[in-house]
Amino acid sequence: MRINRLRHVAVSLTLAIATALAASGWTQTRREIKIPDVPGYQVLKFDLHMHTVFSDGNVWPTVRVKEAWCEGLDGISITDHIEYLPHRDDVAPNFNRPYEIARPEADRLGLMLFRGAEITRSMPPGHLNAIFLEDVDQLKVEKWEDAVRAAFEQKAFIFWNHPGWKGQQPDGVARWYDEHTLLLEKGWLHGIEMVNEDEYYPEAHRWALEHNLAMLGNSDVHEPIAMAYAALEGKRRPIDLILAKEKTPEAVKEALFAGRTVVYWRNFLMGKAEYLAPIFEQSISMEDPSAKIAPKGRVNFQIHNASEIDYELELAGPVEQFDAPKSLTLAADRTVLLSVQSQNAEAKGKVRLEIPYVVKNLKIAPDAGLPVTLKMTVEFIEKK
Ligand SMILES: [Zn+2]
Ligand SMILES: [Zn+2]
Repeated sequence: MRINRLRHVAVSLTLAIATALAASGWTQTRREIKIPDVPGYQVLKFDLHMHTVFSDGNVWPTVRVKEAWCEGLDGISITDHIEYLPHRDDVAPNFNRPYEIARPEADRLGLMLFRGAEITRSMPPGHLNAIFLEDVDQLKVEKWEDAVRAAFEQKAFIFWNHPGWKGQQPDGVARWYDEHTLLLEKGWLHGIEMVNEDEYYPEAHRWALEHNLAMLGNSDVHEPIAMAYAALEGKRRPIDLILAKEKTPEAVKEALFAGRTVVYWRNFLMGKAEYLAPIFEQSISMEDPSAKIAPKGRVNFQIHNASEIDYELELAGPVEQFDAPKSLTLAADRTVLLSVQSQNAEAKGKVRLEIPYVVKNLKIAPDAGLPVTLKMTVEFIEKK
């Protein structure tokens, strides 16, 4: 009798603890990133640069996984510093532990997780991330060249972090040094952060184009993500969009080495035109791209944008015999009216209408937006 009662108490306690854990734990709600796939590729969402208590971050590795899941990411890499360990008296230095601790949580939530580290040296060459590592310990060597070689020998994907970070370039301007030429020549540099935290480096954007490096934008977050990016107010961290042939770590690695990436930062997408154009095309649909109007009449086309990017269009040239808006914002998750006016009183028959725009916030270079053409058909009818 007494034993039974005790058992009952124990069961109740277990239930109470489980309930309390579930309730006090975390939101368990995921906010998907609405950027569509494109023909031939899945557009996967990653953050490949972040810290935990195992270097100078302030969260436990499993929290990084949960945050990423909540924010709609497909995967992350935890990249704690190898050479900077301010918590070493409280958290035993162990370069492979962040990955090992985070791995089961990533598996539970179906997120990809890549073993990474930040090779943290003064400029030049500055800070470099290596991901897809097998053993981070091998990178703990004196000379930076040896650390990068060790990463390369593990077939890591290596990228240059925050080239214009004010901690190393007080004027915020990124500079290319002989050390970076050496990295390129050895095949030891595969990508570059054009965006880090909330900074954009146009020089890095140009170098990515010039040297065919994967374009990256990462959070480099040290605090809980919601504190760093006001995620609760809908603000996002910078995100790497990776165009992968399938949703597997191998396919993501292949895409990174092939440079099929787009940086998603604030309301910008930055990348090569060949990747930005299909993302735009897959985002946009027109309710009915053909219309009947009277000569000198006006017509509205309804354009829906299924993505979470507000596309900011600017007219790129005159349209023969028609008046089209000089600027037009295709708002995220909205349908917008494109109002077009015929200028020709004598117009007859069917006319193919092609309106050239530049999408200002889809950057194919630091100073250039993506050219697009909106295509419609107009059939003129007699005025009644
Ligand atoms: Zn760094
Ligand atoms: Zn970092």
